[in-house]
Amino acid sequence: MSAPVINGKQVSEDIRGALREEVERLNKLGFTPGLAVVLVGEDAASQVYVRNKEKACHDLGYYSEVHRLSESTSESDLLALVDKLNKQEDIHGILVQLPLPKHINEKAVIDAIAVEKDVDGFHPVNVGNLVIGDDSLLPCTPAGVIELIKRTGIEISGKHAVVIGRSNIVGKPVSLLLQRENATVTMCHSRTANMKELTRQADILVVAIGRANFVDASYVKPGAVIIDVGMNRLDNGKLAGDVDFESVKEVSGPITPVPGGVGPMTITMLMQNTLIAAKRLRDQA
Ligand code: NAP
Repeated sequence: MSAPVINGKQVSEDIRGALREEVERLNKLGFTPGLAVVLVGEDAASQVYVRNKEKACHDLGYYSEVHRLSESTSESDLLALVDKLNKQEDIHGILVQLPLPKHINEKAVIDAIAVEKDVDGFHPVNVGNLVIGDDSLLPCTPAGVIELIKRTGIEISGKHAVVIGRSNIVGKPVSLLLQRENATVTMCHSRTANMKELTRQADILVVAIGRANFVDASYVKPGAVIIDVGMNRLDNGKLAGDVDFESVKEVSGPITPVPGGVGPMTITMLMQNTLIAAKRLRDQA
């Protein structure tokens, strides 16, 4: 029998419903959370992501600003814009869409974003707070992974979670968040020896490697929860995850599809972070 499919679209809609209600309540009090998105250059995928973020703001009643800058924008001009947004009172969240053109130092730009407006959760202070377990704005995709697992009613505490991938955006923070939820976490990467021996012990397997359909049924313990973060564009234009969904669902427990699994959660978590940042900034004002 095939495994149950985790419906990220539905979970995401449920969270967005609650956010919409909260923003409506705040709007009535004369307060509107504001998100600024900065896009530099013409990257096609980035343009789609930015449009989706703009749409989410519109749908949920947030104020939004999108700054579309040319590919040739200098680092100092971009830093000047970030500085302006840091000081702007109607903006509570700032997201600079990555990747940036090669002549711009991404780290310098991320470091320049005010910690309390860093709704992507990439600023070193937010990352450090995540590591030591202090309150912080969490990176959106990893936070979405945890939320998806929890809202599907899956217990994380005491489970063995294996994460494949150790990037700063997904693998590392997901591992830390799973640990925070009291899972015992094993991390795998491209140099891991005998990876299948480890993944076959996983009660929860999170895959974030960027290789289409890489993980097949032979990596999976029967009944394991499978969270596929991968988003790979195939030659035929279709989107594929890092997990071979068709073969894995025959042995696994609950499994996320691609599309419709982790993907929809990322922007939803961005909206949640923006609301959290907005309320904190309002309370401090
Ligand atoms: P990344 O920065 O390229 O990192 C990939 C990680 O996977 C690295 O740690 C790498 O190991 C590891 N890896 C690569 N090949 C491997 C293999 N054969 N065996 C074991 N480990 C391997 O990628 P990322 O930014 O984390 O993204 C991963 C995937 O998630 C991509 O498909 C991306 O599009 C997707 N993604 C989706 C969302 C979303 O919203 N759903 C958000 C972000 C990313 P090394 O460190 O040893 O090189």
